[in-house]
Amino acid sequence: MQVAIALGGNIGDTEGLFRRAVQMLGEGGLQGVRVSRTIVSTPVDCVPGTPEFHNAALTGAWQGTALELLALTQRIERSLGRPAVHSSRESRTMDLDILLFGEESLALPELVIPHPRMIQRRFVLEPLAEIAPDWHVPPEGTTVAELLRKLLLARPGDKEMV
Ligand code: ADP
Ligand code: MG
Repeated sequence: MQVAIALGGNIGDTEGLFRRAVQMLGEGGLQGVRVSRTIVSTPVDCVPGTPEFHNAALTGAWQGTALELLALTQRIERSLGRPAVHSSRESRTMDLDILLFGEESLALPELVIPHPRMIQRRFVLEPLAEIAPDWHVPPEGTTVAELLRKLLLARPGDKEMV
């Protein structure tokens, strides 16, 4: 199954951590990985002094289930220094979110695919559009490029979207 994953982080050597995450995903069985450029955005709704967030996206082929992929991404987050218990807007070394799993939709307590907030987030859609513009995102099947175009039309000056 072709999958898409978002990488985010704002502590430490983010580029080095992203490279390490990509390597660990490969070791964990993700094949043919392609990674976007990293974009940097100013934090919003965070405590003063929060460092800039770095975001990228990657795609690859995964043979297992979506929950097995989630287990792998969570193991990588922990081994790259993210505490198992954390709030979602605090600083973190590594956040790996599963964005897309083929053209499947999934709504389990611990895993919702497509990632519920991806279509409102420029920092997700912009990197993803670089490597997978033609992917049809369920449920409507709108492409990533089209979702990004709509988001930019709706909120042109807004670089940091929660
Ligand atoms: P955020 O990504 O919003 O900062 P977290 O990384 O803390 O939040 O994730 C919180 C929980 O989100 C995880 O424990 C995980 O079970 C759940 N989750 C639901 N859907 C997804 C998804 N598509 N990818 C990754 N985690 C997900
Ligand atoms: Mg996450």
